[in-house]
Amino acid sequence: MGCTGTNDEIGGDKVLSTFNYPKFEYRRPPEIDSGTDGHYPVIVVGAGPVGLSAAIDLAMQGQSVLLLDNDDTVSIGSRGVCYAKRALEVLDRLGCGEEMVQKGVSWNVGRTFFREEEVFSFNLCPEPDHHRPGMINLQQYYLEDYLVKRAKQLPNLEMRFKNTVIAVTPDREKATLRVETPDGAYTVTTDWLVVADGARSPIRTMMGLDIEGKIFMDRFLIADVVMKAEYPTERWFWFDPPFHPNQSVLLHRQADNVWRIDFQLGWQADPEEEKKPENVIPRIKAMLGDDREFDLEWVSVYTFQCRRMNRFNHGRVLFVGDAAHQVSPFGARGANSGIQDTDNLMWKLKLVMDGKAPASLLDTYSEERVFAADENLMNSTRSTDFITPKSAVSKTFRNAVLGLAEHYPFARALVNSGRLSVPSFFSESSLNTADADTFAGVMVPGAPMDDAPVESSDGHKWLLGALGNRFQLLYYVPDASALDAATARALAGLADAPIPVESLVVAERGTAPAGLVTLIDSKGRIRERYDLTPGACYLARPDQHVAARWRGLDVASVRAAVARATCNA
Ligand SMILES: Cc1cc2nc3c(=O)[nH]c(=O)nc-3n(C[C@H](O)[C@H](O)[C@H](O)COP(=O)(O)OP(=O)(O)OC[C@H]3O[C@@H](n4cnc5c(N)ncnc54)[C@H](O)[C@@H]3O)c2cc1C
Repeated sequence: MGCTGTNDEIGGDKVLSTFNYPKFEYRRPPEIDSGTDGHYPVIVVGAGPVGLSAAIDLAMQGQSVLLLDNDDTVSIGSRGVCYAKRALEVLDRLGCGEEMVQKGVSWNVGRTFFREEEVFSFNLCPEPDHHRPGMINLQQYYLEDYLVKRAKQLPNLEMRFKNTVIAVTPDREKATLRVETPDGAYTVTTDWLVVADGARSPIRTMMGLDIEGKIFMDRFLIADVVMKAEYPTERWFWFDPPFHPNQSVLLHRQADNVWRIDFQLGWQADPEEEKKPENVIPRIKAMLGDDREFDLEWVSVYTFQCRRMNRFNHGRVLFVGDAAHQVSPFGARGANSGIQDTDNLMWKLKLVMDGKAPASLLDTYSEERVFAADENLMNSTRSTDFITPKSAVSKTFRNAVLGLAEHYPFARALVNSGRLSVPSFFSESSLNTADADTFAGVMVPGAPMDDAPVESSDGHKWLLGALGNRFQLLYYVPDASALDAATARALAGLADAPIPVESLVVAERGTAPAGLVTLIDSKGRIRERYDLTPGACYLARPDQHVAARWRGLDVASVRAAVARATCNA
């Protein structure tokens, strides 16, 4: 599944000592023998983290999906490492988050050093009572392996490996794909094509679509080492450390005692020379000391770009992940934003495919995710400009900030070794129903919903565990047993609609009448984070974002908000 870096150990030899690469079965496609073109309601191209998330999400909604990938294993070598809280919440909704968190290394704190002095630190999740940490570190090949395992559990999801898409011809009603395999080529058509074929996106090129942005003239060396070390599980970043002067270094702990070390090299560096163990090992020894035992696990050199397509939907063809937008790794906004693309798109696509929403709902995928991509590009570009200043003057300013940051808090806020991935707030989204009532807090229409501990009649322990995959209404009453019959009927009645709304009664105690789910706000965090008063309610989108909220229940307003959130208004 695609590979980055140019490590000449690729090509089937055992690449890593800590991971056994799976070989996914190639099966001869039926179209090769039938000689007729197959037709599929939806095809996803690319089984990287984003394509797999897309296919799993659709299949979980009952949609049959064909997923094509030109490779037959997971990501080769060392790519993505950090997966943020919001992406983990999406992966939980897809039924594969727990294994990743168990295997990964959870962390919240990052420290930044200028030479040998700490000049900045951050905490990604300072609030208590959230299910998921601010970040886990997990090698991308593990992430993809768990996703493939999850995909294999879904009978309506067909994966075809060693299937390379070589041509795409879209029209108003469908897209026609030509696919190359070890047994020859065949043709399939599809009503909807989801393109997740990565940064180089052959399909984007086949369709003559542009992607614009900035190429950064710098090179970074990835050295993954296996070592037993007791450094705290934090992200450590150095500017101009004595062991790698005038450059930057990043240290991350991953699973299996693998540590990711990123060395800035500069644009003039020769990647082939830099990758040689005899050149890499002295760098690591200078950093860790001569006594530290370690084994080189993976070495590669990468460059990067910050760029995006003008729009992410083109008729029947929908671009997600790196095919649509790329950012520098500083901030870990790549796969994290791609997984949020599919979180945003798949419920919308399913409603359109079921004829319950117009195709214009897919324009809002591009509207919302282009907004998010611009936030990621801005943050990535700013971080990269601070980490790799392009002129002597900007380097002088950068170092002045770092020097001041040691002593003055105002300067610390300017230190930027990467603003880590956080979800976007779609507060300007056309799908939102604006507030008519006053609320405190940040759970505004368009916001990704905050988590909180709960006790529930159906076993959920976290609010976000009870939310997702359909429209839901949270209705707050202190004592669920005291819910009056008329309100209970109105709440239950919301499920009786072309786009049903499931009602969840949030309470401090009691049990709601049969047919309604009760969520006990066990630590009062829902009341606190959503500023709930008796009768207040929140309408949640299938992607766990707030669509609307009110201080009281009005069925007509809820229906109108659902219509607005699905472009049926
Ligand atoms: C050094 C480095 C560090 C990174 N760190 C992070 C991080 O910490 N956190 C983070 O979130 N992101 C990180 N990223 C970014 C992350 O790796 C990417 O954003 C992510 O892989 C994008 O996923 P994708 O599924 O869109 O594309 P890809 O992972 O590139 O997958 C695309 C798939 O499509 C397949 N394909 C391509 N062409 C065809 C075709 N014609 N037919 C069929 N299949 C095809 C490819 O083989 C591949 O399997 C990092 C990237 C790098 C390089």
